[in-house]
Amino acid sequence: MRITDIRETAVALKSDLRNAVFDFSEMTTSVVAVITDVVREGRPVAGFAFNSTGRYACGAQMRDRFIPRLRKAPPGSLLNDAGDNLDAEKILACMMQREKPGGHTERSVAIGTIEVAVWDAIAKIAGKPLHRVLAEKYSGGRSPQRVPCYVGGGWYEPGKGVKELQDEIRARLDQGYTTMKIKVGGAAIPEDVKRVEAALAVVGAADRLAVDANAGFDRTRALAYAKALAPFRLRWFEEPTGPLDYALLADVAAEYDSPIGTGENLFSTEDVENLVRFGRLRPDRDIIQTDVPQSYGIVQFSRTLEAVKRHGWERKSFFPHGGNQMTLHIVGGFGLGGCEAYPGVFGIFAGFADDARVENGFLKLPERPGIGFEAQNALYAVMRELVD
Ligand code: MG
Repeated sequence: MRITDIRETAVALKSDLRNAVFDFSEMTTSVVAVITDVVREGRPVAGFAFNSTGRYACGAQMRDRFIPRLRKAPPGSLLNDAGDNLDAEKILACMMQREKPGGHTERSVAIGTIEVAVWDAIAKIAGKPLHRVLAEKYSGGRSPQRVPCYVGGGWYEPGKGVKELQDEIRARLDQGYTTMKIKVGGAAIPEDVKRVEAALAVVGAADRLAVDANAGFDRTRALAYAKALAPFRLRWFEEPTGPLDYALLADVAAEYDSPIGTGENLFSTEDVENLVRFGRLRPDRDIIQTDVPQSYGIVQFSRTLEAVKRHGWERKSFFPHGGNQMTLHIVGGFGLGGCEAYPGVFGIFAGFADDARVENGFLKLPERPGIGFEAQNALYAVMRELVD
């Protein structure tokens, strides 16, 4: 068996959302298909993925380096020892040839997206949902039936006030979510405090509300928000500092007793290990939010879990960034803390299977082989176009 082709395309997001730092008006996403010569149900197995949420399409790197390296490799060198399926670890190593250490984001998104598409193909060839394949390899076969799922939202939008924010949260609770995350930092502190109070009035408990500052604060503002938010004892305070500002993060953690969440803008194992050590994060409460397809993919993520385990961090502390089917399988397969969701946001890339329902804050893991993009009609139409 072998990979016969790898194709990619860039899709525009067309969103008018804004967080504390930037708007999404130019956002694009790479969609990848890894096509094999294995035939299932009358056609060649193709694995699909996209580069999650919030990083621009990265087709140039794929076309210039990573796809040619995989196409040039002897087919047998990319297979498992039995020769009956692809081997993601070997495929990652092949893409990393002749890559200088460091400079992660220049390649980690492109490599991770191809790597996750490879996993979709692996699971389809094995005839199992991806979470089960991952559980067998990385979790001693333990795969839960369902995983906790919280909902992200509370963006700043033109004309959106406290009442509209409360309406948004109420609608999410009606859909079955129990925990909501809203943006902070796009307004002055007194206004954001009012938004938090208004949100708490709807969700009903402090441990059901998280806030996200999107790494937009300088030192003065980060510490001022930590002081203003501390009395609320929220579920977590997300990205109070710049992604690599471990010194400031340690200072915020010293002032802010409740959980902190961060890590969605770190792309390597070393960076995450440095984050927990030098950002003085606390394994008994804080949350790590790696975006797996943006960070070299699933094999590298398993190495990140091992690296932070040495510092006392359990898998339950991971709530990966990116509310999508890829992340859902990864949360289930590795037994992580929970999954994010952005229903109706980020166009065709948001959410899970079209018929997926959140019940009392939990989402069932899919049973279809692979990642199951086939059950997301609008997204799958774009993926099929790459193959047909
Ligand atoms: Mg965030």
